[in-house]
Amino acid sequence: MLEIIDVSRRFGDFVALDKVSLNIQAGEFFTLLGPSGCGKTTLLRLIAGFDQVDEGEILLDGKPLTALNPEQRPIHTVFQSYALFPHMTVAENIAFPLRMTKIAKPVIDLMVREILEDVRLPDKAKHYPDELSGGQKQRIAIARALVNRPRLLLLDEPLSALDAKLREQMQIELINLQKEIGITFVYVTHDQGEALALSHRIAVMNKGEISQIDEPSVLYSCPDNRFVADFIGQCNLLDATVVSVAEKQLRIAIAGLGELDVCANPEIDFAVGDTCALTLRPEKIRLAAQLDITDDEVLFSGKVHDMLYLGDVTVYIIELANGVLIEAMLANDAPGRTRLFDTGDAVQIAWHTDAGHLVA
Ligand code: ATP
Repeated sequence: MLEIIDVSRRFGDFVALDKVSLNIQAGEFFTLLGPSGCGKTTLLRLIAGFDQVDEGEILLDGKPLTALNPEQRPIHTVFQSYALFPHMTVAENIAFPLRMTKIAKPVIDLMVREILEDVRLPDKAKHYPDELSGGQKQRIAIARALVNRPRLLLLDEPLSALDAKLREQMQIELINLQKEIGITFVYVTHDQGEALALSHRIAVMNKGEISQIDEPSVLYSCPDNRFVADFIGQCNLLDATVVSVAEKQLRIAIAGLGELDVCANPEIDFAVGDTCALTLRPEKIRLAAQLDITDDEVLFSGKVHDMLYLGDVTVYIIELANGVLIEAMLANDAPGRTRLFDTGDAVQIAWHTDAGHLVA
């Protein structure tokens, strides 16, 4: 439905977006995710028409958007603070953008009633924003953006000002609202947890380029590169060299650890001698004072270097031979368990050969 084709945007010598291409499907909850300054808001502003591309093309339903100014585009944006007018009722807030048009008052009233039904707040029309909960305010802000039925709703970090608990509630609200209304959402965030929780697909951006576009679970378990592995969730990144290559399995050498087997990454053709990195999530690592392993596991001994008690889990930083540090994680699921080991304790760690994902 929305096609971004080789879009570039420069500010002086600085390249904010470098030949970015992506396609968004109708009805999708699509997220642009990346660290501060990677170009997310720049791309959103180009889609909205607040700014112009230097090169490339943006098509909506196959037609170029570039020549249309923001008001002519069937696209609306919800910004961080919902920007509801406190002195206007809910109905007046929603009607506000329509009053700038030539639409007759009775038609506006009908449109407002319909959209309030859609966001499941039909009885709040006469209330003021102050009389609404945070979730209800969010629904009204979205209702206002959706009242003249845009094809696309752009959301720029709408939850970033909220505390963690409220943010989680709002995330659930947003998922349900998007599902019910079925309008395509393009969401911008630098919060990887939020992106994983909300999105059908995510484009991870880095320095004005797309690093990977995939479903959340694929991004997490099969990152295409070191940047994505490191940016999404906690991840051990172990520099390695390919020693031998078989169809399904590779043997790699990691400085300080020696040689070990890993599953091949079907997306990348590695050759003997290539440098690579083994990406290994902390929760995939077994940790105990003494471990029995299967034929498909690798085992290392080390000692606890640091630990972080996080409530549900404790993160242990294990120092292996030659100073290699590996982060492992244990659930505090047994009654009264807060920590199993202390700094300096001798431990063993093991992981299955298919636990790690190899990237270039
Ligand atoms: P954040 O999460 O901090 O909002 P972002 O990924 O949305 O970051 P952008 O706002 O798109 O980042 O900015 C990308 C880069 O382009 C930044 O380095 C920013 O300083 C630069 N930039 C954006 N707009 C302009 C402008 N009008 N003039 C000059 N530089 C700009």
